[in-house]
Amino acid sequence: MYDAAVIGGGILGCATALHLARGGMKVVIAERDSLCRQASGVNAGTHSMQMKRAALIPYALKGWEMWRDAPQWLGMEVGFRTTGGLTLAFTEDEAEALKTRMGRRIDAGAPIEMVTAERARAIEPGLSDTAVLASYCPIDGFANAALTGLAMRRALLEDGVDVRERSAVDGIERDGGGFVVRAGETRLAARRVVLAAGVWAGPMLAWLGVPIDIVCGARHVAVTERTRPIMRTILGEATGKLSIIQPGNGTVLIGGGWPAVGSPKHGSMTVIPKNLVGNFQLACATVPALTRTRVVRAWPGLDANVADHLPLVGALPGLDDAFIIGCVRGGYTTGPYMGRLLGELILGREPEMALFDPGRFGQASHAVH
Ligand SMILES: Cc1cc2nc3c(=O)[nH]c(=O)nc-3n(C[C@H](O)[C@H](O)[C@H](O)COP(=O)(O)OP(=O)(O)OC[C@H]3O[C@@H](n4cnc5c(N)ncnc54)[C@H](O)[C@@H]3O)c2cc1C
Repeated sequence: MYDAAVIGGGILGCATALHLARGGMKVVIAERDSLCRQASGVNAGTHSMQMKRAALIPYALKGWEMWRDAPQWLGMEVGFRTTGGLTLAFTEDEAEALKTRMGRRIDAGAPIEMVTAERARAIEPGLSDTAVLASYCPIDGFANAALTGLAMRRALLEDGVDVRERSAVDGIERDGGGFVVRAGETRLAARRVVLAAGVWAGPMLAWLGVPIDIVCGARHVAVTERTRPIMRTILGEATGKLSIIQPGNGTVLIGGGWPAVGSPKHGSMTVIPKNLVGNFQLACATVPALTRTRVVRAWPGLDANVADHLPLVGALPGLDDAFIIGCVRGGYTTGPYMGRLLGELILGREPEMALFDPGRFGQASHAVH
């Protein structure tokens, strides 16, 4: 019998499983595909305080520290770089909106300052001269999200976690004082379950009789061919429609929340051509050198959300042995810390920061009892 079965091997499930194992629990993690191949592997890899919700800034700062210190706790360097980041306003209205938006993040503890357009161009010489105001955060940076699965697999195995990849969970049943998790012919008996299945957590909540609607969002990231260094920082834009970075390999990653089409039910994902074009136009207007660079690939990813846009991290309502971790926007940055917090709760310790109680969405009908 396992002490805990974690369902879903994205960054949130892996981080939770790792913390539980390090706390002395016998842990299994069941992942339908390979670890961190969905949102946790296809995201843009930015660690930007300016792109996080104000309420999540304290968690993002802790997550940022953990990615910086990855060699110590994860056993591997994952391409973490601090480049600084600029968010740009192109009109007077956007400038007002930017001051308000960043003011909330500064109040929440993010080391962000407002800078003139001239200062922004001194920090980032590749910028066009159309911005009227900017905000700057010196600790913004990125890591290589494609390395998350590799790093997590090594760490989990080293800490004795039973890693079951290509194990699609298709049922959870009550069994005495615990649960039986079904994955095809396999049965995993565990005292506790942790749902960490991203946009696919909805049916699992229904198995446990918990009425929380998981909303599926889809957005794209595009990558250019390798080019000479054309920018140094992470660039965003006041309305949150842009994110551009040029990692060390010379390619430029372009994203920023333009919707794509995705369905967790069918696992289908496609980009929307006009949104790609809109995203590229904004990127080229921001960094003119991009007009001379070809985009070679674009891909969508699925991101989970709930009605109040805050994470679900904690025990499921009315159940003290079933937990969820998910719907964490900017979850690549905050993921390791969120996993640590939930791990602390499950280990019976006091988490150092408040969790995000799923009970705010109402009580369970306890279908599994
Ligand atoms: C395009 C895009 C760009 C992003 N860019 C950034 C960024 O730059 N910075 C940032 O901080 N955040 C970013 N994010 C957000 C971040 O990637 C996510 O918040 C985070 O990765 C979510 O992690 P997760 O573990 O909840 O979900 P996932 O990574 O989706 O993991 C869920 C896992 O559950 C597995 N699963 C599903 N069903 C089952 C089943 N039945 N049985 C077993 N396993 C199952 C899936 O295969 C998957 O591996 C981005 C997201 C997207 C989509």
